Amino acid sequence: MTSHVLVLGGGVGGLALSNALARKVKGQAKITVIDRKSKFEFAPSFPWLMIGARKTEQIQRDLNSLSRRGIEFVQDEVTQILPKDHLVKTKANSFGYDYLVVVLGAVYDHQTIPGFEKAHHIYDLESAVRLRDELQKFRSGRIAIGVARTPFKCPAAPYEAALLIDHQLRKRSIRDDSSISFFTPEPQPLPAAGPEIGGSVLQLFRDRGIEWNAKEKLLKVEDGKCAFESGKTIEFDLLFCVPPHKAPPAVVAAELTDQTGWIPVNPGTLETKQGDVYAIGDVTALPTPHGYVPLLPKAGVFAHGQAETVARNLSMKIEGKETFEKWNGKGACFLEIGYGKAAYVSGNFLADPKPELNFKTPSSIWHLGKVLFEKRWLWKYF
Ligand SMILES: Cc1cc2nc3c(=O)[nH]c(=O)nc-3n(C[C@H](O)[C@H](O)[C@H](O)COP(=O)(O)OP(=O)(O)OC[C@H]3O[C@@H](n4cnc5c(N)ncnc54)[C@H](O)[C@@H]3O)c2cc1C
Repeated sequence: MTSHVLVLGGGVGGLALSNALARKVKGQAKITVIDRKSKFEFAPSFPWLMIGARKTEQIQRDLNSLSRRGIEFVQDEVTQILPKDHLVKTKANSFGYDYLVVVLGAVYDHQTIPGFEKAHHIYDLESAVRLRDELQKFRSGRIAIGVARTPFKCPAAPYEAALLIDHQLRKRSIRDDSSISFFTPEPQPLPAAGPEIGGSVLQLFRDRGIEWNAKEKLLKVEDGKCAFESGKTIEFDLLFCVPPHKAPPAVVAAELTDQTGWIPVNPGTLETKQGDVYAIGDVTALPTPHGYVPLLPKAGVFAHGQAETVARNLSMKIEGKETFEKWNGKGACFLEIGYGKAAYVSGNFLADPKPELNFKTPSSIWHLGKVLFEKRWLWKYF
């Protein structure tokens, strides 16, 4: 009998999982991917889109092309997940399954912060395009860049955005006519990577005159000002702020989440408390052993690694074998700093008692590394 693997989400984790599984099971399982969007967008390139270094069509791909690999793609909105009935409902249909993999990522919760609609960001393609257009019009003034709440996707992205915007203003010879202030509820940049790497990023900010405001929780945006819980305010002419993140409503309604708001999983196998339901990527809550941050950060590199592990283990189950592998917590990330350079962090983010990471200082090699990473990703899956 052919097993049916239903994959909810055709983003980074859903694509990596369905492709790896299709290669392994070679027709022994039916694989269906459901996503509300018809196009995949490569988010690590959004910072480049923001500064005009990429066009939208360069970083988008059609999810219907999954059929070339024997994977069924359905463009629809997941509305209900019913694990006890082995059933998922969408706006237009319902789907049974033998194995379910929830890879629905995070959604944004703008409403929790009054006035947030004044903020720009690069956390979806349309917003990144709008910010690009605003930055092109910008001539002088105060730019505030920050983070509303933790956890958020790609801990490096807002830091990368600040450094790239700084470089863009310098190239246009308007940096002296502008100021950049950064705010975040975090105690340091990239807290999951530990104090040394955070210190290196802070040094980049100091070198460029970017004002640093740590442990500031944004309460509201009003009259051209960000107001924080501490009583502090930051005035701006242009605001970039990472929106608050939360799990998609269908995941919460299915009671798959815990008090963190995300889906708790077995850190090795990515199984949820519901048998035959796995969750990977941004939608999960994976506690860290080191306490720098309570949960593993949300990043595509982790979604990808977890997808490979779940694909391997699911293919074993489908073939009736009993040898399972465990995900190892390894990952890497680039930090673009402008000037055609990037820094690079790699290693084990879940090592005990502290992350075992290697920080490569900014160079053109790591910038080229990120360009190749983008090219390889879009080539491998489309
Ligand atoms: C600006 C930016 C830069 C980044 N840079 C990097 C980087 O350099 N390196 C890195 O590792 N990570 C990076 N990331 C993070 C990375 O993109 C995410 O961590 C990754 O996409 C998570 O994969 P996922 O599959 O869990 O979720 P996603 O890729 O977000 O996929 C979730 C999918 O579920 C779909 N979906 C959600 N709800 C529903 C529903 N109800 N019905 C149907 N479909 C639904 C969505 O449309 C989406 O396609 C970056 C993110 C951003 C925003």
